[in-house]
Amino acid sequence: MYDVRSKNPEEFINHEEILETLSYAEANKHNVELIDQIIAKAKERKGLSHREAAVLLDCDIEEKNEEIYALAEQIKKDFYGNRIVMFAPLYLSNYCVNGCTYCPYHLKNKHIARKKLTQEEVRQEVIALQDLGHKRLALEAGEDPVNNPIEYILECIDTIYSIKHKNGEIRRVNVNIAATTVENYRKLKEAGIGTYILFQETYHKKSYLELHPTGPKHDYDYHTTAMDRAMEAGIDDVGIGVLFGLDKYRYEFAGLLMHAEHLEAAYGVGPHTISVPRLCPADDIDTNDFDNGINDDIFAKLVACIRIAVPYTGMIVSTRESQKSRERVLHLGISQISGGSKTSVGGYAEPEPEEENSAQFDLSDTRSLDDIVKWLMEMGYIPSFCTACYREGRTGDRFMSLCKSGQIQNCCQPNALMTLKEYLTDYASPATKEVGEKLILKELEQIPNENVRAIVIDHLRAIEEENR
Ligand code: SAM
Repeated sequence: MYDVRSKNPEEFINHEEILETLSYAEANKHNVELIDQIIAKAKERKGLSHREAAVLLDCDIEEKNEEIYALAEQIKKDFYGNRIVMFAPLYLSNYCVNGCTYCPYHLKNKHIARKKLTQEEVRQEVIALQDLGHKRLALEAGEDPVNNPIEYILECIDTIYSIKHKNGEIRRVNVNIAATTVENYRKLKEAGIGTYILFQETYHKKSYLELHPTGPKHDYDYHTTAMDRAMEAGIDDVGIGVLFGLDKYRYEFAGLLMHAEHLEAAYGVGPHTISVPRLCPADDIDTNDFDNGINDDIFAKLVACIRIAVPYTGMIVSTRESQKSRERVLHLGISQISGGSKTSVGGYAEPEPEEENSAQFDLSDTRSLDDIVKWLMEMGYIPSFCTACYREGRTGDRFMSLCKSGQIQNCCQPNALMTLKEYLTDYASPATKEVGEKLILKELEQIPNENVRAIVIDHLRAIEEENR
């Protein structure tokens, strides 16, 4: 039986329900009448069920697909404007006791350099990230209860929030660490984390068990219920995702949306973000061993259909994707991207010598943050370093209800412009600054309310005069 509220993962990610959904989608992929009905429902901007969204994903009628892409683009504009939130990953430790067959951190990999940052090294990394202009981090670590216990992660978070350097300050620390206990999630909440992120990797239980043959991550049920424990502990911003390439994308898509439906039904708040990583080449990993890779067209369709199905959920794309691929999906629904990323442990303060490779995977987009900011602005996007919602306590259902009502935009656009101005004043190259100043002037004209515009202009002037 399929019970969306159940705490049992066999129920809320019900295998039979996914198989039925996929047959239903396959049978209806040319059903124009049904597709039109689903598109009409999607236009109400209240989202779609996994079944409805699966039909759109399978639809291969060119004209309807154009409508789907156009709607995804419009929904993206309505909910997020032209803002793109910027962040960087910070790798704390690559010690790991798991045996994940696709990840170079796996225990049996003896040629990857194992590293764990000391608190002094965390400081150096964070100062290097602040000097680039970052305000928002995603902490990454392997799973190793001896080398990276929760106390270590908490100590790193404390260190990070305490570092003030020039105008730099990390204002939001998101955390991507292995599934853990309610008690540990409570500790993370108390430490002031932003989003707790955990990728399901695959929702297909049989594949999951094969892909995670050893270590604590082998426990599919424990991994799949991680967000339930995080919610129980009071973390209301959670980020989900799958690693595309491990299993069939249609199955993952249905599983991902069912997971979102479960969180919404059981806790009144869906996922804060959805990430869409694709499997990358990495040390000791042969991507040819995985034959479920998806091409750029399917990737774009997935992004568009997720955008339509969960309009109020942020979507993240990392530097695993190339500039070209990112360019294609940005307007279809992505709201957050990383920039200037390093996936090695300690890679920001000092470039890692080649013989010491500790990186998690090979990046496709290796451009600097400055280049990425300029590139975004040249395409008309506002790179945003804003963390105001989190700092004002607008998380979980408070954030979601604002977002669903479309209200979030009224404060987001001015905040994004001000944080961009801070970036341009403190960190940008002259060429990026020039592009940015023009963009800010253009964007100011679009603020309809004169009073709001005057306040923003005042604040922008204060930033320039170093009066923050
Ligand atoms: N250790 C934590 C866990 O067990 O979830 C998370 C940290 S891990 C550094 C972050 C993510 O990297 C994983 O969840 C996985 O999806 C992704 N990853 C692992 N190997 C990868 C590869 N070869 N290519 C792309 N992403 C990969």
